[in-house]
Amino acid sequence: MTKKKIVILGSTGSIGINTLRVIECLGDRFQVIGLAARKNINLLERQIKKFHPKVVALVDRKSARELRGRFKNIRVLSGREGLIEVATLAGADLVISAIVGAPGLIPTLEAVKAKKRVALANKEALVMAGEIVMREAHKKGVKILPIDSEHSAILQCLKAEKEKDVSRIILTASGGPFLKFSSSRLKSVTPQEALRHPTWEMGKKVTIDSATLMNKGLEVIEAHHLFGVDIDRIEVVIHPQAIVHSLVEFVDGTILAHLGTPDMRLPIQYALTYPERLSAPLERLDLTKIKGLTFQKPDTRKFPCLKLAYEAARIGGTAPAVLNATNEIAVSLFLKRKIKFMEIPRMIEKVLNRYKPIKNPTLSEILKADAWAREEALRC
Ligand code: MG
Repeated sequence: MTKKKIVILGSTGSIGINTLRVIECLGDRFQVIGLAARKNINLLERQIKKFHPKVVALVDRKSARELRGRFKNIRVLSGREGLIEVATLAGADLVISAIVGAPGLIPTLEAVKAKKRVALANKEALVMAGEIVMREAHKKGVKILPIDSEHSAILQCLKAEKEKDVSRIILTASGGPFLKFSSSRLKSVTPQEALRHPTWEMGKKVTIDSATLMNKGLEVIEAHHLFGVDIDRIEVVIHPQAIVHSLVEFVDGTILAHLGTPDMRLPIQYALTYPERLSAPLERLDLTKIKGLTFQKPDTRKFPCLKLAYEAARIGGTAPAVLNATNEIAVSLFLKRKIKFMEIPRMIEKVLNRYKPIKNPTLSEILKADAWAREEALRC
């Protein structure tokens, strides 16, 4: 059996670490040939010793120099161009795109252009430039497989179905740690409280996005591009148990749902082995132990980020890139305790209101909009 050759962009982040755990469990079906990270040199060193990639990249040049001193027999690339070289590595069958935020866009797009199948965890790439990425994927005949649990669920619900038979997509959201908090309590929540997610273990950025519901807003836009379904046919329901990972309703009223334990290794494995299914050493869902499955409408008064994401998505063009960039700045300021939790949506709304979106933007117009929003956000 020929091994599937894997490249992981963002190997030291939460998705990267879990992808390597899955690969380890699946044994010799996979070969890791490239790894890229920002600057976590010690973890990358351990990953190199265990998985023996041919090429690695560190975006941070100083860290890359240090790593070169530790390994004489592998290529250590650096900077954005090093990242792109790993993303387009000759021989790679699958590129795991798991860089957090806007920096994931260009390497993801370059992987697609190089005809690599992409397993996408970096939803921001589709939020910013969904039309461009998907157009390129169609042109090159490249499959983009979601790693996001909700989108993996939808992909599986749609597997045997026709696009024209879909009436709507229902994305589930756990609701995050503040689901039951009052509006006044929300004003004083701290980064520590926001980072305590009740069901999913994830990186910092996506955990804060889950607390504001922006994560779900970004996922609505991601689903719109991945599955070609209009924004207003994508609905969000709060489902705190995080057992139903998403649902698809068809024209006859049938709803297909995907259930499973909330463990990122499940959607990661599906993206790795797609269209095959392999046995996984994960905890099984015991239906008789589930106390109940509840669903409710999201409260967009308490969590305005979700509404803002829908608004930006309906405007389209460069508006979602501005939403995303402002959110990234707002989240980093919140994590540094420079702004309060409820200032995250306020900042996004302000910047969006000051922005004149461009229709059918080019990539450079999208990157310009992203840069403009970051500066404008800091002026708020
Ligand atoms: Mg998700």
